[in-house]
Amino acid sequence: MTQHHTLQTKLVHAGRNPRYTQGAVNSVIQRASSLVFSSVAEKKNATRNRAKQALFYGRRGTLTHFALQDAMCELENGAGCYLYPCGAAAVSNAILAFVEQGDHILMSGSAYEPSQEFCNVILKKLGVETTFYDPMLSETAFAGLITPQTKVLFLESPSSLTMEVPDIPMLVRTARAINPDMVIMIDNTWSGGVLFPALKFGIDISIQAGTKYLVGHSDAMIGTAVSNARCWDQLREHSYLMGQMVDADTAYLAARGLRTLAVRLQQHQESALRVAQWLAERPEVKAVYHPALPSCPGHYAFERDFLGSSGLFSFELCKTLSEAELAAFLDHFELFTMAYSWGGFESLILANQPNEIARIRPAVARQVSGTLIRVHIGLEAVDDLIADLANGLARIDWQSFA
Ligand SMILES: *Cc1c(COP(=O)(O)O)cnc(C)c1O
Repeated sequence: MTQHHTLQTKLVHAGRNPRYTQGAVNSVIQRASSLVFSSVAEKKNATRNRAKQALFYGRRGTLTHFALQDAMCELENGAGCYLYPCGAAAVSNAILAFVEQGDHILMSGSAYEPSQEFCNVILKKLGVETTFYDPMLSETAFAGLITPQTKVLFLESPSSLTMEVPDIPMLVRTARAINPDMVIMIDNTWSGGVLFPALKFGIDISIQAGTKYLVGHSDAMIGTAVSNARCWDQLREHSYLMGQMVDADTAYLAARGLRTLAVRLQQHQESALRVAQWLAERPEVKAVYHPALPSCPGHYAFERDFLGSSGLFSFELCKTLSEAELAAFLDHFELFTMAYSWGGFESLILANQPNEIARIRPAVARQVSGTLIRVHIGLEAVDDLIADLANGLARIDWQSFA
C-alpha cells in the first residue's frame, strides 16, 4: 500500500494481498501443521525461504498469519511482526531475545504488573538484573541508571493504572547517546499501535496485547511485536525457538478487528473524553488521569507525541473507600462490569486502593492517596455510561469523610 494513504484507509486494506484472500475479501483461514511439498525442489525452496513467508511448517505460519503480519508491519512501519499467543508472551519473549546472563535491563516501574513480575521472577533466575525506573524521572536521573550492561530499555505509555505519559523522545535519545546498541521496546497496547507510531520515535520493537484493541471484542487473545530491520532476525529466530505462535483462527480474528479499529478508536476516544470531562467536574473526584487532560502527568508529552487517545483512563476519588463502600460502589453498576481486561466494545471498571498501587509501583515517586478507579469506556451511548457512574458515586457516603 502506498505511503500517502491515511491510517483509516490502511486499516481497511492492509494485508489484503490476493495471495492471502484467494478471491474473497478477507484472508483464508488456513489451519495447518503439515504444509505439503509437491517436489524436492519445492521443499528446498520452502526451507530456504522459511523466514520469508514461504509455506514451510505450521509453526512458521500460514497464509492467515502472513496476512496479519503484513498488515501490522504496514500499520506500524515495521520490517517484521512476530505473533504470540497473548500479550504477556510478546513482552517476555521480546525481552528474552535480547538478554543473557550478566545483562541489565531498565523496566518501567509502572508498567503492566505481569511485565514487572516477569523481570522479578524469570529474568532474576537467568541472572539478568532489572532496574525499575520511575517513568517520569529527569534526563540526568535516567542517564544515571544506564550501565554498560544495559541491553534493553522497556517503555510503556501511558503507564498501566496510573496513566502517566513519559517523555519518550527524551528517554530514547538519552539511552541511545550512552549505548547506541541498546534494544528499546515499548508496550504500545493503549494506542492500538496506531495512535503512537513507536518505530518513528526510534523505538526498535512495538509490542501490543492484541487481545485488547486489535481483537476488540473480548473473545480472543494474541500478542504482536512489530520490529524494525535491525532487531527483526533476532526477535523472530529467538521467538521461534521458544515455540511461540498463535493459531490461525485467532490470527484471523485479529486481522478482522483491524478493519473497524479506526471507527472503534474514534468512538472510544470521544466517549472516554466526555466521561473524563464529566468526572473532572465532580466533587467526589480528586483528579482524572486521562492523557488528554492537563491533570494527567505527562499531558504535554501526550499532546506532542500521540495522534489521539483511546478508551482507558483512571480517576482518583477524594478518599480511600472502605471495603463496604467499595462493594457498594462496584457491585451495582448496570453497564460497567469488572474484568481484568479492556479494549473490547463493552465498558469495564476496576478499583485499586492506594496501598495496592504503592506495592506494584515501588520505584515510582508519584503516589495516589484516594481509591483509584480505572475505567474502559466502551461503545455504549455515553449518556448511559455517565448516568451509571453518577449512580455509583451516589452509593458512597461522602459525609463520612472529614
Ligand atoms: C492486557 C495487557 C497485557 C497482556 O496481554 P495478554 O494478552 O492478557 O497476555 C500486556 N500489557 C498491557 C498494557 C495490557 O493491558
